[in-house]
Amino acid sequence: MKKDAQYFETVIIGTGFSGLLATIRLQKKNCNDFVLLERGSDMGGTWQVNSYPGAEVDIPTGLYSISFIPYKFKKTYAPQSELIAYTNYIIDRFDIRKHTRTNQEVTKLTYDESTHLWHVEVASGERYTARFIIDSSGVLANPKIPDIKGADSFQGAKFHTAQWDHTVPYKGKRVGIIGSGCSAAQVVPAIASHVDRLTVFMGTPEWIIPRSDRTYSATERFIINLPVVRHINRFIIFVSHEVKFIGFRRYPFTLKIRAFIKSLYKKSLKKNLKKYIDDDNLRRYMMPEYELGSRRVIPTNSYLPALSRDNVDVDISGIETITPTGIRTKDGKDIELDIIVYATGFFAYSNMKKMLPFQVYGIGGRNLNTEWEEEAASYKGITISGYPNYFKINGPNTGSGHSSQLCYMEVMVKYAVQAICAIKQDKSIKAIDVKSDVQKAYVTKLKKNLKLTVWQTGGSKSFYRKNMTGEVVGLSPESVVHFIFSRKWVHLRDYHLLK
Ligand SMILES: Cc1cc2nc3c(=O)[nH]c(=O)nc-3n(C[C@H](O)[C@H](O)[C@H](O)COP(=O)(O)OP(=O)(O)OC[C@H]3O[C@@H](n4cnc5c(N)ncnc54)[C@H](O)[C@@H]3O)c2cc1C
Repeated sequence: MKKDAQYFETVIIGTGFSGLLATIRLQKKNCNDFVLLERGSDMGGTWQVNSYPGAEVDIPTGLYSISFIPYKFKKTYAPQSELIAYTNYIIDRFDIRKHTRTNQEVTKLTYDESTHLWHVEVASGERYTARFIIDSSGVLANPKIPDIKGADSFQGAKFHTAQWDHTVPYKGKRVGIIGSGCSAAQVVPAIASHVDRLTVFMGTPEWIIPRSDRTYSATERFIINLPVVRHINRFIIFVSHEVKFIGFRRYPFTLKIRAFIKSLYKKSLKKNLKKYIDDDNLRRYMMPEYELGSRRVIPTNSYLPALSRDNVDVDISGIETITPTGIRTKDGKDIELDIIVYATGFFAYSNMKKMLPFQVYGIGGRNLNTEWEEEAASYKGITISGYPNYFKINGPNTGSGHSSQLCYMEVMVKYAVQAICAIKQDKSIKAIDVKSDVQKAYVTKLKKNLKLTVWQTGGSKSFYRKNMTGEVVGLSPESVVHFIFSRKWVHLRDYHLLK
């Protein structure tokens, strides 16, 4: 039997940083009739689930933190333990736990045109109705496990990095890591010295670049957290990342700068590969042929030294099959393993069917899931024509390829809450629905700009792209500064006002 629906003015889906930000912004506007629905048993999103050894942020926390919630991080690049401590600090400081219901996996959203309310269905059978939906269900939230022949026959332990099984000891074991992207580059150095043997089944070669990481002394932490210093530090990191955008978007006047930046990184990678990788074949393989930045660049100083260890092997021939005792490679080797780790990333936009973790039905029964399989169209990555009062955080083309995603999320949440306040202020308006011609014009311009980015034209497969090779859906072709100013104000003239 279906349970009676509970009404909240706003339903927020997800409790990662964007769900928390939405809560804080609503509270600031004195809109306290909301609930957060979280499918997990714990709050916290990305940094709650990604607890694999070595998990850490790859943008300095001076910028990868909420601009108005300072925290005394111990390192330039915080590990997962600090990021989840920061998340919990935010949850407690803003008393968010009391508004949250965990183990509530949203399965379906349906817009009712007669009442202008959204019906929210949850796997457990609970039902909610809401006037506004803030969908902060994340992008890198749904682990992608490749379909490899024989996987079910494996008798050891196997898990994805985002579902790390901490009950399985890896010390002294033979471990195989499938994948060689960002998470593999973090796990490998973290466990290499503890395991008996580690085999990395390498996929696409990545641009690996050096970074300056350090642990702050107590005095540095004090100084860096003085309000003025903190703002200056954040500004410097912000600008240094914003400058990188020049390397990712093709402006005619920056072609030479791009080529120069690429030559510097190429030289540095070549030098490091020569230093750490003895095998000529592997060294050649690890030098990417696609453009710098067209897949996520990996800033690390510890990955290549870890690959050079005597107990670490790298396979580049590919996986033929998983066997009961390990992995058989395409060049005929049988590698015995106790544990298989899938460091294979997330669906994100690599499979458009999985882009939304639930079904969304809008005006006239339109289905967003099938529409986005065709074309992931939205207005500014936040609102979607035909789906009134539905605000998507981190929607299509709002990801950052060069800076902190939190900067973008703050902008999107602010926009959504500003829209909600505008609707509430005019008692005659029940809902807003972005005009289809306004959305179309936005999408046309967006596509034109995407053609100028390295993500679209850089010659690589990536999860930024529709089904790995299509148009870029993951990233924004805008600098952060442009992103901020183009979403600073909600213009109601862009929307149909439903009364
Ligand atoms: C390993 C890893 C490293 C990263 N490193 C960086 C970095 O260095 N720099 C950077 O800028 N970004 C990084 N990111 C991107 C990161 O995802 C964002 O920075 C940010 O944390 C996203 O926050 P979010 O709240 O939008 O999503 P998430 O943190 O993913 O939270 C989404 C929440 O929604 C919940 N949810 C999903 N579906 C449902 C449902 N159907 N019903 C109910 N709840 C649901 C999830 O359980 C989760 O709690 C990284 C991501 C990962 C996975």
